[in-house]
Amino acid sequence: MKLIVEQCQRYAKMRAHTATHLLHTELAKIFKTTKQAGSLVDEDYLRFDFNTDRLLTPEEIHTIEKNINQMIYDAYNVEVKETSYDEAIKLWAKAFFEDKYGDTVRVVRVFNHSNEIVSIELCWWTHVVNTKDIGCFAITGQEAVASGIKRITAVTGPKVALRIHEVQDILDTTIQKLWIKTHTQLADKLDKVLKEYDDMKASLESLETNMIKQLLEWTDFSSWKDLDKVFLVPVELNFKNVVFQAKWIFKKQNILIFNKEGSFVLLADKWISAKAFSEKLGITWWGTETMIQGRDEKILGLFK
Ligand SMILES: [Zn+2]
Repeated sequence: MKLIVEQCQRYAKMRAHTATHLLHTELAKIFKTTKQAGSLVDEDYLRFDFNTDRLLTPEEIHTIEKNINQMIYDAYNVEVKETSYDEAIKLWAKAFFEDKYGDTVRVVRVFNHSNEIVSIELCWWTHVVNTKDIGCFAITGQEAVASGIKRITAVTGPKVALRIHEVQDILDTTIQKLWIKTHTQLADKLDKVLKEYDDMKASLESLETNMIKQLLEWTDFSSWKDLDKVFLVPVELNFKNVVFQAKWIFKKQNILIFNKEGSFVLLADKWISAKAFSEKLGITWWGTETMIQGRDEKILGLFK
């Protein structure tokens, strides 16, 4: 039983590894000068880092997937051959300068049906004997991992089907939540929902601003000492917006705005220093001579 499991894992890694070589070939077609910067091969999973200055476009990803899957369906032979390093380099095998190679190397080649080499690399890993054994290939992601280094992740064999199920589940849930019938309606529906959201947000913001303006005009509940106006505003209101509106409405006046959580802003004209005023009240604050703000529940006690 253990042996069977190990054998399955081995095949899964072989599929991912040969697919890595095919991916390398495809990337070399797009980025003429790119170099491999690292790679990880696991069971039907691969990660490939390479030097380039940009990410792949969605069309390029699509083309790579299509070409690799075509090589899988076309069932190309994978040949492994031991030879001398010099001989291998003559064959233009991709060797990585940071790796140390002995006199004897292993060349892994993939041939098409016209007996042309479609992939050639120096490699000690085990590979599938024919590209058809990979089953299927799908890119699952790409990202920039460091300066000039991009990473591609992909799956092979049975993991492609798992991936399709995962994506289908997400799609089905989205279709259900958006009350549409098929995925072809998705883009239109999303545009509509996003537009509705933007409109609603804009109308809520304008409603809030109007409310604040009215509130500031009508709820001036007391004047106190050197202050011209004192406002206790509801906690639910956007405090930043309240202050912004107050600044516009009350120029050259001394205004204190606060809410029941103790958030406050004191806007002071030049003749009264906001800083001196708050120090007199003994509240914790930050700001300048003409505007201080803070959050101190002591402010609530001053206006009972
Ligand atoms: Zn390899």
